[in-house]
Amino acid sequence: MATAPAHRTDDAIERDDVVYPLGGTAPQPGDLHEIAPGVRWWRLPLSGPLKHINGYVLGTDDALTLVDTGFNSDAAVAAWQALFAGPLAGATVAQVLCTHFHPDHVGLAGWLCRQHDAPLVMTRTEWLQLRMLTSDSRDDVPDEMKAFWRGAGWDEAQIAQASERGWGNFGRVVSRLPLGFRRIAEGDVLTIGGTDWDVVVGSGHSPEHACLLDRARGILVAGDQVLPRISSNVSLGVSEPEGDPLGDWLASIAKLRGLPADLLVLPGHGDPFTGLHTRLDQLDAEHAGRLDAVAAHLATPARAVDCFGQLFRRPIGPDVLGMATGEALAHLRHLEVTGRAVREVRDGVWWYRAA
Ligand SMILES: [Zn+2]
Repeated sequence: MATAPAHRTDDAIERDDVVYPLGGTAPQPGDLHEIAPGVRWWRLPLSGPLKHINGYVLGTDDALTLVDTGFNSDAAVAAWQALFAGPLAGATVAQVLCTHFHPDHVGLAGWLCRQHDAPLVMTRTEWLQLRMLTSDSRDDVPDEMKAFWRGAGWDEAQIAQASERGWGNFGRVVSRLPLGFRRIAEGDVLTIGGTDWDVVVGSGHSPEHACLLDRARGILVAGDQVLPRISSNVSLGVSEPEGDPLGDWLASIAKLRGLPADLLVLPGHGDPFTGLHTRLDQLDAEHAGRLDAVAAHLATPARAVDCFGQLFRRPIGPDVLGMATGEALAHLRHLEVTGRAVREVRDGVWWYRAA
């Protein structure tokens, strides 16, 4: 088990860049890397472009808090088994805490809770969203979903192709959940192994995303609320088509700027980093630039699918069409909410033009 300093170097303080103080020391599968006493980092395998999700193990071996779980996959189960046969052999799990409802973060939560007779800890909205999606088990794609895709500008072939994947797939990558959970909320303080962790809630990537802040030592378990290098997906979806997730996201960036600038940030994907405020500025500027590009593009009325060129560097194939559409709609909806665009519905298709 390696150790590393929990704070940035003097050099980093001067430059205030995004810095990876543990660079090159990502834990190998089945290994734990000590960030600070009672804060350990490890990695679970993910299929897909992200390749891994970070898990964090907080507290001492007599009462561990496991933060985030990986998908319900054979590879992730094997990784947990290796951890409990190796560095965590004989340890007791006190609770399983998930930052948000996405399946790479909660996929094995139910399994872990059963294995260790431990409660699941989440914010209430994330829990309800999770229970809603895992309970949605009909197999045919509802007409409302097809109407939503049509509204965004998908053609009938794209709708047919997406429909072939069926409906209710969320439950397949999430193990059976407990019937109840333990609620955390903004402002709560969790004492774990003698350390106080403040619950700091963000939104936009998911509705009530929990981050954990150790103020005394300057450590933020950030989940997907702040990622290095990649920006978190912010999508408008069928469950709340009149929402403004990008507005929520930008408001959360403003809120997180109120946290100390010199935190060591432990993200859900990628390497721990310092330079939180710089990273928040980068994310803010990225979205502002995209909003401006989309707004300029709306001189001629456009659908969500017509805005991919303004938002993404690479062509959008069927594998990422859903995610890209959600992201495009989030930007268009935010332009609409902020008075920069107007939406008109023609034959069930949403056309946006600059206001
Ligand atoms: Zn996520």
